[in-house]
Amino acid sequence: VAKNPSEPEFHQAVKEVMESLRVVVDANEEKFRKDALLERLVEPERQIKFRVPWVDDKGQVHVNTGYRVQFNSAIGPYKGGLRLHPSVNLGIIKFLGFEQIFKNSLTGLPIGGGKGGSDFDPKGRSDREVMAFCQSFMTELCKHIGADTDVPAGDIGTGGREIGYMFGQYKRIRGVYEGVLTGKGLSYGGSLARTEATGYGLLYLTEELLKINGMDIAGKTVAVSGSGNVAIYAIQKAHQLGAKCVTASDSTGWVYDPEGIDVEALKEIKEVKRARLTEYKNYRPNSEYHEGKGVWNIKVDIALPCATQNELDIEDAKTLVANGCIAVGEGANMPTTLEATEYFLANKVLFAPGKAANAGGVATSALEMSQNSERLSWTFEEVDAKLKQIMVNITHNMADAAKRYNAEGNYVIGANIAGFEKVVEAMTAQGIC
Ligand code: NDP
Repeated sequence: VAKNPSEPEFHQAVKEVMESLRVVVDANEEKFRKDALLERLVEPERQIKFRVPWVDDKGQVHVNTGYRVQFNSAIGPYKGGLRLHPSVNLGIIKFLGFEQIFKNSLTGLPIGGGKGGSDFDPKGRSDREVMAFCQSFMTELCKHIGADTDVPAGDIGTGGREIGYMFGQYKRIRGVYEGVLTGKGLSYGGSLARTEATGYGLLYLTEELLKINGMDIAGKTVAVSGSGNVAIYAIQKAHQLGAKCVTASDSTGWVYDPEGIDVEALKEIKEVKRARLTEYKNYRPNSEYHEGKGVWNIKVDIALPCATQNELDIEDAKTLVANGCIAVGEGANMPTTLEATEYFLANKVLFAPGKAANAGGVATSALEMSQNSERLSWTFEEVDAKLKQIMVNITHNMADAAKRYNAEGNYVIGANIAGFEKVVEAMTAQGIC
């Protein structure tokens, strides 16, 4: 805390991971201390901060701050998204980059941890303004990334449009056509099923988690927060698996649709019109729209927070548990506060932490990297089948790791340990670096 003041999200993420690793750390205390292993783990290998000047449609110049934190490359090139949101600062990017190390390790694929972004807000900006920002952002970032070095992807505010503009600028400056970004369009090296991957993966993992605990996802009622990339495809897959998702939200309000959210309507509002959820009632007159937050007050069996960090607090957790919620899967990164997480665990709610539950996105990004390397494209079914297998493996790996350290059913501990073990083994093998 003294070394990195004003980074509360980073401290929260480190605390959560370190607390759950206590058993492993205790068992290896002397060795970890001698090698300063934990100190090396929490210090990014490199963090880059840069100026991003761009011109708006009125000729006014704006200056944003760009970031790329290259956290850990022990098991592969840095990999992690680029977040474009006014709340972005170094502490947030560091928290996301730190979590990414373990998440990427959990996928079983050879990818290290990184994250980046900017405090630029694409909302309300014209396509030309977004392009001007993305080109300026990539003009600096391209000096630090590459297909075998660091491969960024999308995140909040960075979708297909932004990735396209950034890829074009990278190619123009560096003169190489390579898989330097993932989440690309299908016409220039993107992978089928990447758009769906995080939401679908969340549901594959939730389904398996219920299964190993003797339950079936079919017939369950689900609350989802958010209405972005993760939320939309989580809702779609929940319906395909026979569950019914009754909520969605955005940063101004939320909808309750007792008949089940109409995914096509949601896609049109959010992906095509880029509009607010107030419009949902035009498609589904029997639904309710409410201002503010309230998704977690609905009585459901499963809660899937898919919007943003710290969106589900202790009061929400108490309400969900009182309403009989049996499982929580984090589609977003760190959407549940520490207090709320502890409450779920204490009340025997099956709790799948984001680094496992939303790993389907980065896993499929790694599959996109493989396709780019061999200059081939796999079918949707091939990618989806691989994604499902990866999510099933993650579920079992985190459950087994928890069991090995006498914490059966605690998937927070399990996911952290399973991700940590591989990274630490690689760091140890590679010496002090
Ligand atoms: P999007 O930008 O597509 O969607 C984010 C959604 O969350 C929007 O509906 C947004 O509403 C809503 N939201 C943002 N802030 C708040 C808030 N304070 N309160 C309520 N709703 C809010 O992002 P993604 O779906 O891609 O990402 C969502 C989360 O999932 C993030 O935490 C991200 O890091 C994580 N994630 C994403 C992956 C991916 O593949 N996309 C992979 C792994 C994790 P509005 O429309 O009003 O902005």
